[in-house]
Amino acid sequence: MENIKAKKKYGQNFLIDSTVLNRIIQAMPKGDNYVVEIGPGLGDLTKNLVKYKDMTAYEVDTDLIGILGSKFEEEIVSNRLKIVHKDVLTAWDEQKTLHEGKYDLIANLPYYIATNIILRALEDANCEHIIVMIQKEVAEKFTAKVNNKEFSSLGIIAQLLTTDSKILFDVPPESFNPAPKVVSSVLYLKKDLTKSISKDFKKFLKACFSQPRKKLLKNISSLIDKEILHKIFIELNIDENTRPHEVSASLYSQMYTKVKNGRN
Ligand code: SAM
Repeated sequence: MENIKAKKKYGQNFLIDSTVLNRIIQAMPKGDNYVVEIGPGLGDLTKNLVKYKDMTAYEVDTDLIGILGSKFEEEIVSNRLKIVHKDVLTAWDEQKTLHEGKYDLIANLPYYIATNIILRALEDANCEHIIVMIQKEVAEKFTAKVNNKEFSSLGIIAQLLTTDSKILFDVPPESFNPAPKVVSSVLYLKKDLTKSISKDFKKFLKACFSQPRKKLLKNISSLIDKEILHKIFIELNIDENTRPHEVSASLYSQMYTKVKNGRN
């Protein structure tokens, strides 16, 4: 590995296990989609991806930009690889999409902003597949199903916007340098590009899960007149003692529409 000190503030844990790299490449979706990588780091995953796909990689760390530039001179000159020196969240704020055209996001993500990145990718209308290494605990939240204690707004949003969501495999700390304190997982999401959700629906979910172990009814009782809320629960056949993780994604969607209409 290059003589470079990993920066904690950028969530730098470089993947050093070639078996894991190969498994990510094998999981790469078939088809002609462009690839976007977030955080190429020292370029080990990038080197494997660019063999198969044209791609853009967003990297925030100035010290890595020079290294990547000389390592991938040929690929950059031939336009197969574009390296963008930018915080990816700023890029999303400025451009709304990370690529003009259908793309797949494939990355070993910086864990400190992984949840945020996945939510942005789910909202990005051009992003079709998401294959990302993240903290196992977070991957489990995105794939959790109703009645599982981990089922939360992340699982609901993922279910409403995808046709497939699963953990492909787990990766132990020793596969990285430096080794993180947690086990990692490679998460796979296939989006339904016809679906989207509103900011207001996300706010509604935030209220529903404001106290995740308390009753759902109590969490949202300030949003709408109590009598109307009781009526909505009866119409949707939801018991008033139900906890937030015990309601399915599609019921949340229906409940939101009724609450919105009931407020008007
Ligand atoms: N892809 C490399 C690998 O697998 O070894 C590095 C992965 S490391 C976990 C995360 C990478 O994301 C680092 O290169 C880090 O500098 C970069 N990064 C952190 N925050 C970022 C941000 N806001 N925008 C773009 N890149 C970021």
